Amino acid sequence: RAKGQGGGHVEVYAAHMHAQVVGRLELQTELRQALADRAFVLEYQPVVSLETSRVTAVEALVRWRREDGTLVPPEEFIGPAEESGLIVPLGEWILREACQKVAVWRATSGLDIGLSVNVSVKQVLSSGFVQSVEDVLAESGLGAEALTVEVDEEILLENPVVAVDRLTKLREMGVRLAIDDFGMGHASLSHLRRLRVDELKIDPSFVRDLDSDDTVTLLTRTIIRLGQDLGVQVVAEGIEQPWQLRRLREMGCAFGQGFLVGRPMAAEGVEALVGGETSATAL
Ligand code: C2E
Ligand code: MG
Ligand code: MG
Ligand code: MG
Repeated sequence: RAKGQGGGHVEVYAAHMHAQVVGRLELQTELRQALADRAFVLEYQPVVSLETSRVTAVEALVRWRREDGTLVPPEEFIGPAEESGLIVPLGEWILREACQKVAVWRATSGLDIGLSVNVSVKQVLSSGFVQSVEDVLAESGLGAEALTVEVDEEILLENPVVAVDRLTKLREMGVRLAIDDFGMGHASLSHLRRLRVDELKIDPSFVRDLDSDDTVTLLTRTIIRLGQDLGVQVVAEGIEQPWQLRRLREMGCAFGQGFLVGRPMAAEGVEALVGGETSATAL
């Protein structure tokens, strides 16, 4: 009897697993279709100089627009897109779309506005990666130095030799490199020995706990100093409150990003921003 119950339990569990697998496959089919249907859209979040309050760059953030008009956040589909390999063509589309847009914005506004694009491990490790970045820059006319490629620290764990080699090639082309969510990975400091970067992005969890946690304050200050000593630009992410902005400025953090200084917006929003007002209003 106990055995029967156990068996039933296993069956329920297996059915649940099955549903999950089917769900994932369906999602992957939907994502492939979405790419074909051009159903992905990019939003752009301003990166602001905390000294001048000027927008110095925008970070491209991908969304999936479903048929009913809802925007699905990247956290729900980047993982599955990586699993299925779709991240490679999707990532290439993101890069091309963003570079074309920013090249036009730079040309029409005359502003020296940079572009940050997130890339995933799978994308960097795919064989055509470096070439595709080179092609996109050539096609769009965007200067390599206007592009920053953001990678997570985990990129150096899976296949460090190849990843470092690819990213170093990009850097030799003049593309800037940023480590995203800095301070959250294992051995954050040791990564800086293996890969030369131009930018560190302080994870929002540090900014959130500034002041309520002395250790976090100390660590944040240390990352900012580290950036200054290494000649690496530091960007604080997730600035939501005026007091956070104030504290980061006091600590000498040069750049910031967050809902307080600018929300992710559609391309039209950036066009309005660079067309006239370039100072973030909240500052
Ligand atoms: P990320 O690169 O660290 O991007 C910053 C995320 O923080 C964005 O979420 C942004 O909307 C959000 N954010 C910005 N300011 C604030 C704030 O003040 N408070 C809070 N709570 N959040 C803020 P999003 O757009 O949902 O993207 C999540 C993650 O998905 C990104 O984290 C990035 O790792 C990934 N992602 C986004 N776009 C792409 C892409 O084009 N390619 C790849 N491979 N990954 C992407
Ligand atoms: Mg990022
Ligand atoms: Mg990221
Ligand atoms: Mg981040």
